[in-house]
Amino acid sequence: LMQLAVPLNFIGFVYREIRQGLTDIEQMFDLLDVNAEVVDKPEAKPLRVSDGAIRFEDVRFSYDEARPILKGISFEVPAGKTVAIVGPSGAGKSTLSRLLYRFYDIQEGRISIDGQDVRDVTQKSLRAAIGMVPQDTVLFNDTIAYNVRYGRVEASEAEIQQAADLAQIGPFIRELPDGFKSMVGERGLKLSGGEKQRVAIARTILKAPPILILDEATSALDTATEQEIQASLDFVSKGRTTLVIAHRLSTVVSADEIIVLKDGVIAERGRHADLLEQKGLYASMWDRQREATQAEEQLKRMREDD
Ligand code: ATP
Repeated sequence: LMQLAVPLNFIGFVYREIRQGLTDIEQMFDLLDVNAEVVDKPEAKPLRVSDGAIRFEDVRFSYDEARPILKGISFEVPAGKTVAIVGPSGAGKSTLSRLLYRFYDIQEGRISIDGQDVRDVTQKSLRAAIGMVPQDTVLFNDTIAYNVRYGRVEASEAEIQQAADLAQIGPFIRELPDGFKSMVGERGLKLSGGEKQRVAIARTILKAPPILILDEATSALDTATEQEIQASLDFVSKGRTTLVIAHRLSTVVSADEIIVLKDGVIAERGRHADLLEQKGLYASMWDRQREATQAEEQLKRMREDD
């Protein structure tokens, strides 16, 4: 067993050092989600973004043949609009965002940005055009400033501070003993899920991509934190084409279109009020969510009264 422990430790060490040395957050996504099958075509050109309109046309996809995940999905995110994807766990919501980012190639159909198939453009240019705010942001073992600067390495100190303020995390950072020079990550300060997400939002504000993918956290945040995060997300998505995997009522209420995904197909689609009126899957999902939130708040009040 001792013999085995040494190389495993070594692999852990190498992995951490590689992670530390990465200069681009999306590169890390690539590392964690390696898929050697996705390669640039020899004639691949850089993506040219004019408006940033996204289009999914009859998209079919499975990770393995035996189990289709998406069975013919068509929708558009017009330039500057926000489309929210909702649906039960395992419905394929995150898969949709991974396909837009081209972590995988689809089996049938077409995914395009401003008319260009994502398979015909270079992956580098595609990923430069898309900003991702994931559910669980991995921070680098470095300073907060360094973590924010990942969005645009040439950003100035002032721009980093401004981005942090817009993401509503600036005041929190300035109160830390070392301010923006505070170390975070495994070997530094442990930030909460909401704080980490705001660092990711600051990073994305700096990157200023024409297209955004937001993956909202499922875990319950307290109301004040949720409102703060919502405000900074609203700011970053303003005027940008946004695909959001939505778990919060506040997001879907304001979305230009809501897509309800179930069993690999679009079960319902429309705006919040229309979908509520239909009294279908969407309506029952949000009834349940509202009950859960109310129960949580009641519990909190009871605890506070104690
Ligand atoms: P949740 O709300 O729970 O995050 P989701 O709707 O985002 O779920 P996806 O993550 O898109 O769901 O997953 C859809 C289905 O694809 C799931 O059944 C999942 O098990 C499967 N799946 C996801 N990633 C892979 C993978 N890399 N290889 C094989 N199957 C996968």
